[in-house]
Amino acid sequence: MTPETQKNSSDVVVVGAGLIGLAAAWELSSRGKSVVVLEREAPGCGATSVAAGMLAPIGELDFGEPELLELNLRSRRLYPEFIAAVEAATGLDTGFRHTGALHVALDRDEAAELKRSLDLQLSFGLDSKWLGPMAARDLEPGVNPSLAGAVLVEEDAIVDPRALVEALRAALPDRGVRIVTAGVTGLIREGEGAGPVVGAETTAGDFRAPAVVAAPGAEAGIAKWLPEEIRPSVRPVKGQVVELRGDAEGPVCQRILGSERVYVAPRPDGRVILGATVEEMGFDRRVTGGGVHELLREAYRMLPDIAEMEFVDAIAGLRPGTPDNTPVIGRTAIDGLILATGHYRNGILLAPVTGLAVAELVDGHDPEWLAATDPGRFRERETS
Ligand SMILES: Cc1cc2nc3c(=O)[nH]c(=O)nc-3n(C[C@H](O)[C@H](O)[C@H](O)COP(=O)(O)OP(=O)(O)OC[C@H]3O[C@@H](n4cnc5c(N)ncnc54)[C@H](O)[C@@H]3O)c2cc1C
Repeated sequence: MTPETQKNSSDVVVVGAGLIGLAAAWELSSRGKSVVVLEREAPGCGATSVAAGMLAPIGELDFGEPELLELNLRSRRLYPEFIAAVEAATGLDTGFRHTGALHVALDRDEAAELKRSLDLQLSFGLDSKWLGPMAARDLEPGVNPSLAGAVLVEEDAIVDPRALVEALRAALPDRGVRIVTAGVTGLIREGEGAGPVVGAETTAGDFRAPAVVAAPGAEAGIAKWLPEEIRPSVRPVKGQVVELRGDAEGPVCQRILGSERVYVAPRPDGRVILGATVEEMGFDRRVTGGGVHELLREAYRMLPDIAEMEFVDAIAGLRPGTPDNTPVIGRTAIDGLILATGHYRNGILLAPVTGLAVAELVDGHDPEWLAATDPGRFRERETS
């Protein structure tokens, strides 16, 4: 082995330094694995840097997604320990706060819809509560006084995804993880290109490892470097957000506030993120007048005080969506190749559980709680 080959050899190669790839590297390195993370642009530059960072397994709950809820709840349970370890390693604040969330109905139709969603939450044994207008405004005095009612979800929390990426970037090198700027262009396989994966070809040379974890976010479905037979059904789902600056001493809200059409996610320094549009627009990341208008209008309707806040920025990102809104985490038909993508609206929440899942898979285990994320599930449905 030449010194160059040795330098570019590790136990695991992770493709993509979004929060999913970084969380996988974190857990793998805590199990003593040497890891190289390959990132084409900059860590966190994809959907991760756009996300509001709500850790809301219940608030984001949809009908017919019980397995996803299980996974979401498992990940939220892991969050406090994950954050404590990352913050202890770096001394950096990741913006993790146990704020709770208040889902607001602004008229009678919205109240009927919100009650349906409350019933669903209660049917899963979740601890959500209906509040009348007065009780809701006691908690969040800034909410529009004409509200019809609200649901309080005390367990929901929030993190600042950019701050978390910065903390992981700072912590990972001390744990033996190298983050390399390199675009992956192909896989290296044994047996004339048809055997197990033994590394990745990149714009910065070859990187060898007996396990490769593909975490390329929304691009997974069109990634030419992944063989077509295992390329997952992942599509980009555009989301626009608006950032406003306010006063840390007198924040416009304490909790995550949500209505049918918008959420307001508070940061510890008084900023808020208004989100998010959900658009099927392919790989378009343009911020549009219509998108920004809709977010500001709906947020103002729920929380009129936002009118006094300073406009900071509006950005768009691409959620990695799947046909059943559930991520794709698991082994593929190609030995040594693991997929970790398709986290759609919950990738920040699902980071710790995905890191754990990837580390278990690399160690040769198949956790039963991962059954719903099997990468082969869409192909099986197509052929059955
Ligand atoms: C508007 C919006 C709001 C959101 N809000 C929330 C929220 O409140 N809570 C929540 O839990 N989730 C939220 N999400 C979802 C969350 O952001 C995503 O699910 C999550 O960030 C996906 O992380 P990822 O690491 O898979 O992808 P990404 O963050 O997109 O990272 C993928 C990385 O892979 C790199 N890459 C791709 N191809 C290659 C290659 N060939 N070689 C090298 N590198 C490559 C990319 O450059 C990128 O950095 C939101 C998303 C959006 C868009």
